[in-house]
Amino acid sequence: MNKNAKKMGYSFEFFPPKTKEGVANLRETRKQLAQFNPEFYSVTFGAGGSTRDLTMETVQEIQTEGFEAAPHISCISSTKQELSELLAAYKSHGMKRLVALRGDIPSGEASAGDFKHANELVAFIRHETGDWFHIEVAAYPEVHPEAHSASMDLSRFKAKVDAGANSAITQYFYNADAYFQFVDRCDKAGINIPIVPGIMPINNFTQLARFSNICGAEIPRWLRLRLEEFGDDLQSLRALGIDVVSELCEVLIAWDVPSLHFYTLNQSATISTIINNIDN
Ligand code: FAD
Repeated sequence: MNKNAKKMGYSFEFFPPKTKEGVANLRETRKQLAQFNPEFYSVTFGAGGSTRDLTMETVQEIQTEGFEAAPHISCISSTKQELSELLAAYKSHGMKRLVALRGDIPSGEASAGDFKHANELVAFIRHETGDWFHIEVAAYPEVHPEAHSASMDLSRFKAKVDAGANSAITQYFYNADAYFQFVDRCDKAGINIPIVPGIMPINNFTQLARFSNICGAEIPRWLRLRLEEFGDDLQSLRALGIDVVSELCEVLIAWDVPSLHFYTLNQSATISTIINNIDN
């Protein structure tokens, strides 16, 4: 039994559902995850505001259920005016936490918008709303795929912290050393905010490989080969995924991470098993 596990805080990330069925599924997912007393539920935001209304509806519903909701907000393809209106709307609805991102440019679309990088968005949020919001930003233990170098990426991360970010959530990883090294380097660079590991459960190899190719999160060779081999045998794939991710969480908890943030993809079953594993 892990002695630290009882004290561990969890947060869960969702995407805003587009259909009635999706909304009902997410309600059920939240019902299941509520047993873990989440610190907050966060809801993603399509670059350029493509999910603006859906994100807003989802965070409001979460808030009505009595949980803290953290809308993601991305600056790519958005004007200052649009962002300012969105911030005012979140503030008027009593939201106190935001996940501030650059976002990714949808393929085929030009990168319009008033800001190029998340540090500018963080500075804008502070300028517009002072200390109203707790601002989370993204961090990349395995380096953001567009970065010219690991040290450049670290200094870009520091720029977000200097602009006023309160804490960070990492891109997912399966190699705990990448996270430990990153946190050490942050410490040496004078970055003192909590850096919460982002945890991606393994439910579907094709989807995971596609995400990982895009975001630069490495699936270690041994794990990739084993997952690939399962083919359509989803039961075995998920069983291995649960073992690997539970072990990763245990290693992180033993290292005294601030909390764990799960990328749920709006599903609760695998995550519930993982948390029950690490809590027992
Ligand atoms: P930035 O911090 O701006 O960094 C992007 C790249 O630019 C990096 O390579 C960095 O090194 C470089 N850079 C940063 N600042 C500068 C600068 N001033 N000058 C030059 N280069 C610079 N995407 C969505 O669209 N919606 C979401 O809801 C969403 N949620 C996410 C949640 C988490 C926890 C994470 C980790 C990612 C999420 N993403 C989301 C993906 C994110 O938008 C992408 O990873 C995006 O490519 C980078 O966003 P960022 O905020 O880290 O950007």
